[in-house]
Amino acid sequence: MTHTLPAATGFLAAVHQDGSQVPRPVFATLGALADAREEHGGHTLHTSLLHSGAPDGARARAGGVAVVLAGELYNRAELWSLLPPGTEPAGDAELVLALFDRYDLHAFRLLNGRFAALVHTGGRVLLATDHAGSVPLYASAAPGRVLAATEAKALRTAPAGRPLPAARPVRRLPGVHQVPAGTVLDLALGSGTGTAHRTWAPVLSRRILPESEAVETVRRSLEHAIRVRLGAQAPLVVLSGGIDSSSVAALADRLTSGRVDTVSMGTDEADEFPQARIVAEHLGTAHREITVPTAELLRRLPHAVWAAESLDPDIIEYLLPLTALYLRLDGPGRRILTGYGADIPLGGMHREDRLPALDTALAHDMETFDGLNEMSPVLSGVAGHWSTHPYWDRDVLDVLVCLEAGLKRRYGQDKWVLRAAMGDLLPAQTVIRPKLGVHEGSGTTSSFSRLLAAAGVSEGRVHQAKRLVVQELFDLVVAAGRHPDDVDTERTVHQVVDRLERTAQPA
Ligand code: AMP
Ligand code: MG
Repeated sequence: MTHTLPAATGFLAAVHQDGSQVPRPVFATLGALADAREEHGGHTLHTSLLHSGAPDGARARAGGVAVVLAGELYNRAELWSLLPPGTEPAGDAELVLALFDRYDLHAFRLLNGRFAALVHTGGRVLLATDHAGSVPLYASAAPGRVLAATEAKALRTAPAGRPLPAARPVRRLPGVHQVPAGTVLDLALGSGTGTAHRTWAPVLSRRILPESEAVETVRRSLEHAIRVRLGAQAPLVVLSGGIDSSSVAALADRLTSGRVDTVSMGTDEADEFPQARIVAEHLGTAHREITVPTAELLRRLPHAVWAAESLDPDIIEYLLPLTALYLRLDGPGRRILTGYGADIPLGGMHREDRLPALDTALAHDMETFDGLNEMSPVLSGVAGHWSTHPYWDRDVLDVLVCLEAGLKRRYGQDKWVLRAAMGDLLPAQTVIRPKLGVHEGSGTTSSFSRLLAAAGVSEGRVHQAKRLVVQELFDLVVAAGRHPDDVDTERTVHQVVDRLERTAQPA
């Protein structure tokens, strides 16, 4: 298979006992739709797969079990070794089907991937997310039917569902719930209810390793995570010139026979172009710089909310520059590697030497990442691309989280173990470069704040106003189904500010 993107990058699936209506498949993710309808055991399974030409690997059926899978698996070789010799599944859905036959729902404890999946067997419907919930999965269930989709907006017109175990309700979409990270919901079709099973949780203990062993383990696991994420063609690395993305670019470059592409995003206000260029030149990548004017960046706010389906203003602000970048990448769908997320398991936001504070921040972040949709593939999917995040590979994450805090903060450096692991492949100044978040490096935080200030928001209420703007945008592009091209950021800001003023003034 020489396809660059996964067989499917999203799905809408419906299982029902009666002939009830299936909502029209509406996605922010760009792609062709492959519809299928199958009857068995008195139930109908209807699926719409979002794909880029070869959706077959995303659907499998045998012996009364059907699997639908969006995304991809990264430990295929390991998983194959569990199957009878000679079994060669044609795609990831078929692989999951074979594992399900052997392990039932515990199959999902075995997978290292970036996926969302549905299994239908008899009167059961199982909904599963990867360890990190990196492909968001939403569901709406009632007696006799289960609907599931990788974007909440696809369930906008679904009839109201019942509460689901352990799942979060979605704002303004009655009965739509988000399946938690690292979870299988095992639902009974007849009642529309069931049980939640956790398939992954971040480790709570910390491992003590000699420096050299820690450094080697990190290097090896990251290299492996990148190797299994490479497609048939050279990847594109979104490169800021920080240690995280530079490490990904360096390792991808070593593992790719051709030239790796790198791209850096900046605005007319701020960029990290010089720092990224140093890395690109050092590695000899085919490098591009894209400047997005601040006005365009802010116009993309509705698109960021539409793609991430997140209500957290800090997350949206952080995701906005990359969404704007992805929308600027034309041409056929690319496989994109990011340096996203290294700071969470390594405590990279932490800039002082006290280890208890580092581990406290880390434990908190590992407990609260779920549901923010920071890793959603839809961000690049809106432009037809597929992104993947090596630092949040299940095995890399397990290695990084559990390292004792003194390996993360050491010799006055943050993320020491990663920096030490990459010393031989990167310029010295890159290895010691301090962290800069993409929302800072692109001036996004300040330009969003300025937009609100210009609309009359006082300094003390900027954050609250950002929250309300994101909420309003969510209501428009997710709950009301408006296309983000038809939503004006500035008008939305003014509406929110008017409302804010009215509530601020006592009647
Ligand atoms: P950060 O907020 O710096 O941790 O960013 C997370 C990831 O987004 C990085 O590791 C890069 O892969 C990507 N990224 C951040 N800033 C840029 C940028 N200016 N241009 C391109 N990619 C970026
Ligand atoms: Mg950065």
